[in-house]
Amino acid sequence: MATQQGRHFLHIPGPSPIPDRVLRAMDMPIIDHRSAEFARLGKTVLEGCKAVFKTAQPVVIYPSSGTGAWEAAIVNTLSSGDTVLMAETGHFATLWRQIAARFGINVDFIPGDWRRGADPAAIEARLVADKARAIKAVMVVHNETSTGSTSRIAEIRKAIDAAGHPALFMVDTISSLASVDYRHDEWQVDVTVSGSQKGLMLPPGLSFNAISEKAMAASKTNKLPRSYWDWQEMVKINANGFFPYTPATNLLYGLREALAMLQEEGLDTVFSRHQRLAAATRAAVKAWGLEVLCENPAEQSPVLTAVMMPPSHSADRYRKITLEKYNISLGSGLGKVADKVFRIGHLGECNELMLLGALSGVEMGLAAAGVPHRSGGVMAAMAALEARDDGNQASVA
Ligand code: PLP
Repeated sequence: MATQQGRHFLHIPGPSPIPDRVLRAMDMPIIDHRSAEFARLGKTVLEGCKAVFKTAQPVVIYPSSGTGAWEAAIVNTLSSGDTVLMAETGHFATLWRQIAARFGINVDFIPGDWRRGADPAAIEARLVADKARAIKAVMVVHNETSTGSTSRIAEIRKAIDAAGHPALFMVDTISSLASVDYRHDEWQVDVTVSGSQKGLMLPPGLSFNAISEKAMAASKTNKLPRSYWDWQEMVKINANGFFPYTPATNLLYGLREALAMLQEEGLDTVFSRHQRLAAATRAAVKAWGLEVLCENPAEQSPVLTAVMMPPSHSADRYRKITLEKYNISLGSGLGKVADKVFRIGHLGECNELMLLGALSGVEMGLAAAGVPHRSGGVMAAMAALEARDDGNQASVA
């Protein structure tokens, strides 16, 4: 492989690039995690997170990857032998299901073809049919990172209400939080699961549970054993800005900075930036004559775009060639779509020119790997960006 100059283009759908501001904020001496200085940091981030989850209820922060927060949601609310309802949106829904199954939970997994989000009508029908109210939780992945489909959480909430079902509602926002509009309180989500390494623009290593009163009440009577993940102890000690164990202090410095950046840009501007970049990416895919994996335009992700390879072409071979020639990392296909799709991440610290650079790499890679396509994707993306310019950039003096 030739020596590669310049910055690497990290365009996987998370971990996403870390802004220099966040890197600098983390480059700090460690402090006593039982000191008053730490308590100020703890309180700032624990409170500050709430704006991003759009909640006034407790948010707990674990020093773990997102998988830990998945497990925490389950072990704090459910008991072995319980039934839950999930939707097969893709690889990550499948993994969350496996964790539930390992704890002896029966999962009613609504089958899906990995080309759309969870279907609110199918969820409503299952809940209506559950006369015995055996379903204890509805668990949905908001942004399915393996496919680029975003489920309609507000509509799923309405479906649960329309069925008059008391199930808890748990949502994985690991790849949507701070990139796609999300409202924990308004949508009456009971547990929102999230992670640091995507829209929050931080390194991997922090995960989150936002917890409703109903979920907190369930955690007092459910039967699954837990220790490290236990909410009760965590929330009690968090009240003073501390953690029940050694916290990931420097990641919390980064979180404080990332929350400030999100607040400065404004969440609505952040969301529309993601939508604009996603629309430009889809315009490029269309111009190349390739297909976006997510079939439902209303559910195409603002965070990433999964692109289907033409039959008999290997997505992994294409990604390898593109990485070697152009120093860009694209996301691999996972699970059922392994080697059949590649994923372009356009989340977090990403702007127009970063995206256009990435799309140039994708387009040149298609040519280099001999993948049949039309040229002109980057031009189409530029036209889409110009058409949707909602004045996000600073005006030129
Ligand atoms: N859920 C979703 C939607 C994800 O995208 C990921 C990781 O990419 C996970 C869960 C698992 O999180 P982690 O890899 O941080 O444990």
